[in-house]
Amino acid sequence: MKKIQMVDLRSQYLNMKEEIDKAIHEVIDTCAFINGPAVAAFQKDLEKYLGVKHVIPCANGTDALQVSMMALGLQPGDEVITTSFTFIATAEVIALLRLTPVLVDVDPDTFNIDPKAIERAVTSKTKAIVPVHLFGQCAHMEEIMEIAVKHNLAIIEDNCQAIGADYIFKDGSRKKAGTIGRIGCTSFFPSKNLGCYGDGGAIFTDDDELAKQLRVVVNHGMAVRYYHDYIGVNSRLDSIQAAILKVKLQYLDRYAAKRRAAADFYDLAFTGNPKLKTPVRYSNSNHVFHQYTLVTKQIDRAALIAHLNSKDIPAMIYYPVPLHLQKAYLDPRYKPGDFPVTESLSNSVVSLPMHTELDEEQLKHITTSLLEFVNA
Ligand SMILES: *Cc1c(COP(=O)(O)O)cnc(C)c1O
Repeated sequence: MKKIQMVDLRSQYLNMKEEIDKAIHEVIDTCAFINGPAVAAFQKDLEKYLGVKHVIPCANGTDALQVSMMALGLQPGDEVITTSFTFIATAEVIALLRLTPVLVDVDPDTFNIDPKAIERAVTSKTKAIVPVHLFGQCAHMEEIMEIAVKHNLAIIEDNCQAIGADYIFKDGSRKKAGTIGRIGCTSFFPSKNLGCYGDGGAIFTDDDELAKQLRVVVNHGMAVRYYHDYIGVNSRLDSIQAAILKVKLQYLDRYAAKRRAAADFYDLAFTGNPKLKTPVRYSNSNHVFHQYTLVTKQIDRAALIAHLNSKDIPAMIYYPVPLHLQKAYLDPRYKPGDFPVTESLSNSVVSLPMHTELDEEQLKHITTSLLEFVNA
């Protein structure tokens, strides 16, 4: 059996080696390493794929979030509401810009930000909401949009984990995740659903004026060369990474299908087991399974992971510590117990290997080994 990995980037590469190698060599041949034609070409393809007017490439997903908040002109003291159950980058950039992160709890089924909790957290200082489409499934965008309209707030979608997912509106119409709010942000970190071979990110918007400002901020606050009207940052997507992403974007829907097939296999093995809650596929999106995350019940989770590891199966806890209990983010406004759903998830979730190259032999080994422990 092929060695099981959380994400098997090497097997994926070998399946398209010729195309990728050619794309990389084309960039090297032209030496257009920064802002070359490969970046413009990928940007166009991604705009078309997402059905969005503007894609602004940048250096990584964290920058995409930070640049969005800068381009919106958010000022120190402005409050930004986000989820307590996410990767740290979401709250990190809020804190770095001296904005005030306001955390709220999540929905126990989708692990996504709870719209009712957002509503309760809105104050006169609130300027933006950052919903995260966690693990590949969309947040409750229509409810969140209603709150945003009512209180005149900007929505910045953290779409680092759900690129390619469709958001399905209650009337049945669809839009791509990350293109529903004012701004969408994504990451092309290698292990993301659309990953490059280094760091990369992008920002999406339909708003022409905002797109202009986002391009100014990523480019040292400069619209006309060497005239700096704003304090910006240096955040670019490398041409080589763009060339790789242009190849991989063609496969993104097939990748999602493969991830769903692996999730189906897991679901079939685990559904109905009283000690396991399989991922809930909520009707508002087609889950693209960035992660396959089980909620364990009355199980020694550390012993389960040790058992899996002893069978050469990796497993991870995303995320072991809620944001409000992270050392750097301790804040007198928050204490243990404030976000009971997040805290309970942090203590009980486990994510299994999930990628585009999992084969049936590997999936069988994973499900059999896991059930061996759970049913013992
Ligand atoms: C990966 C990730 C980020 C950050 O992306 P980088 O490209 O690593 O900077 C931000 N938010 C979420 C939810 C992520 O998963």
